[in-house]
Amino acid sequence: MQKKFYITTTAPYVNADPHIGFALEIVQADALARYKRLMGYDVAFGFGTDEHGVKIYRKALENKKSPQEYCDFFAKRFDDLKALLNLSTTHFIRTTDERHIKAAQEFWTRCFKNGDIYKKNYHVKYCVGCELEKTDSELVANRCPVHPNMEIENYEEENYFFKFSNYEKKLLAMYEDNPQFVIPAHRLLEIKTFVKKGLQDFSISRLKTKMPWGVDVPGDDKHVMYVWFDALVFYISTIGWPGDQKEFEAWWPVVQVAGKDNLRQQSAIWQAMLMSAGLSPSKQIVIHGFITSAGQKMSKSLGNVVDPFNLIKQYGIDPVRYYLLKEIPPTEDGDYSDSRMKEIYNSDLANELGNLVSRITTLAEKDGITCAVENKTVYNKQQQELFDAFQFNIILEQIWENIKIINRETNSFAPWNKSSTERKEFLTGVLQKLHLIGQQLLPFMPTTAEKIVQATQGTISKITPLFPRLK
Ligand SMILES: [Zn+2]
Repeated sequence: MQKKFYITTTAPYVNADPHIGFALEIVQADALARYKRLMGYDVAFGFGTDEHGVKIYRKALENKKSPQEYCDFFAKRFDDLKALLNLSTTHFIRTTDERHIKAAQEFWTRCFKNGDIYKKNYHVKYCVGCELEKTDSELVANRCPVHPNMEIENYEEENYFFKFSNYEKKLLAMYEDNPQFVIPAHRLLEIKTFVKKGLQDFSISRLKTKMPWGVDVPGDDKHVMYVWFDALVFYISTIGWPGDQKEFEAWWPVVQVAGKDNLRQQSAIWQAMLMSAGLSPSKQIVIHGFITSAGQKMSKSLGNVVDPFNLIKQYGIDPVRYYLLKEIPPTEDGDYSDSRMKEIYNSDLANELGNLVSRITTLAEKDGITCAVENKTVYNKQQQELFDAFQFNIILEQIWENIKIINRETNSFAPWNKSSTERKEFLTGVLQKLHLIGQQLLPFMPTTAEKIVQATQGTISKITPLFPRLK
């Protein structure tokens, strides 16, 4: 039977258009999904939209829309990402889908039966911006450091709680048994340190009278689920849990790609929830950093927010994918700037890669060269390890090192000055190298790579320029 591989991003919260950080996350996941398919795996690549909670409820009311109408609009914008970024996703679910709601309720019921859900009186400080409870130590001047413009809200009510404190030892044992569970390693250390300090039970419901926009708590019509509790279940509802057990078991466990602000939810809370529901943990959590805009934190007030829709319009899909995978360190913070984008577009893409393929195919067409396809291993062992560690930038640097070598060899050999026999032999060799480079680029820049693969086999004809120079 074909080996299976399941990868997802987080489910973005639909209170705004998709931002560049999520574009990075989903392009990373797509590169890995495409790589795994090339390696012979049957791949499920899922994402979804997180649509409940107070933030959406209030935004919808502000915009004089029903929460469902409001979500429908933004869910569509996220669905558009598939075509926009040429993603090879296979699964998509909205947390307002009936199938997801049923899954969240079944999940709750299992945790409840296992004794991990109880009711108690609750006082909490809450940041609506994060949709998270905050302890005093997390606040700066009684405000959330991520959302300093928002008032911290205080709640006092009876809520359901999840016995997170039950899972301290179990989580630590799991991290110990699986040193690759979170990558990069310093994020695993960070979550271990967090768990070791002791876990606090947290509230997982809201009173409907205050906030009705959520999944109904099974057996209690006064409460809806806290948005995080419902949303995390999307990792399994996407692949058919609980209705389609066969489908679920075929794909589970998952590799989850998430931002550094999601470390706790993905690698501790969700894992404890899975244990409570009697399910096995995720396979791996891969944490990426944040993207700054020309060295500064992005903010609406600074007007420096990088919009992925605009970038694609300006530069095209593959150059944007290339930037995200090559210029942003995959598991650390990175920077986007238009000047750097233009620079690498002209140097790496137009000059080094585009020109080379044009030059070689033009010469080969004149010589009437036909190139047989050799069955070579596309990625060596080291490259395979780099893929599994999400080190896309290093793989791309290596590929570009080879492109530079081929450019230098071509310039020094000067095939245009050689006899036809010598030239044909040289060009055939270069075409084979370019064919391999095309194959190696398939996970990163699918359309460009496919063009190179096609242009370097059979009877060679001159290729249309891959990257027209930017002015
Ligand atoms: Zn906040």
